[in-house]
Amino acid sequence: RVDVKDLSVAFGEHKVLHEVELRIESGTVTCIIGPSGSGKSTLLRAVNRLVEPQAGSIKIDGEESRSMKPEALRRRVGMVFQHFNLFPDHTALQNVSLAPVKIKGISPKEGKAIAEARLAEVGLAQKANYRPSRLSGGQQQRVAIARALAMEPEVILFDEVTSALDPELVKGVLNLMADLAKRGITMVVVTHEMGFARRVSDQVVFMDEGRIVEMGPPSKIFDNPESPRLKRFLAEVL
Ligand code: ATP
Ligand code: MG
Repeated sequence: RVDVKDLSVAFGEHKVLHEVELRIESGTVTCIIGPSGSGKSTLLRAVNRLVEPQAGSIKIDGEESRSMKPEALRRRVGMVFQHFNLFPDHTALQNVSLAPVKIKGISPKEGKAIAEARLAEVGLAQKANYRPSRLSGGQQQRVAIARALAMEPEVILFDEVTSALDPELVKGVLNLMADLAKRGITMVVVTHEMGFARRVSDQVVFMDEGRIVEMGPPSKIFDNPESPRLKRFLAEVL
């Protein structure tokens, strides 16, 4: 479970998140939607401490993230990015096994076994020895997801992971994410894929100008939006 309280982030004078409050229950999927520049990525990055908040608290299963060592946080909170961020000189298998071996301190042999299992789960058992440059965008994103899974984190954050993919590859990655959701993996997903958000989320969060404007189950957010700002946003994107 993740508890975000009174979270504020500023870049210099520019306040980007204003007292954000959010609870992510274990085993649930939260989709974050909202216009460009509304602070969605900043919220994910703050949870992963890729940006330092000015104020507020982020608890992972009750433990304040500020007081965790960076390695401990990396182990407990996984992240998948729009542009994959794979190591180009490593094979798919090495990309997946690297962090478990380095951060969890398991043996290279165990790391290899874990990586093989995770790659099989994302449908890439046959590509374990390929470097990223020889994989399609969708396959590279699957490797990045396998890499996040390999750490067995308590929550995985996804930031627009299908936005850089060719349209015909988007569906496969979204289906994989829906499978992970069914397995009970706790996920926070920033996405422009409203169909996915409606179908897979337990909770949808609508952000605008650094604030959570409205949140609730997908039926409420998509079928009975309250705030004028959300209504306008949905009219533009649906
Ligand atoms: P998009 O849908 O385009 O990805 P977003 O909702 O993810 O948008 P953020 O990337 O969180 O938005 O950005 C929110 C605001 O914070 C923007 O005004 C952006 O310019 C600003 N911002 C983000 N990162 C930085 C940074 N490292 N330094 C300064 N300003 C930043
Ligand atoms: Mg973003």
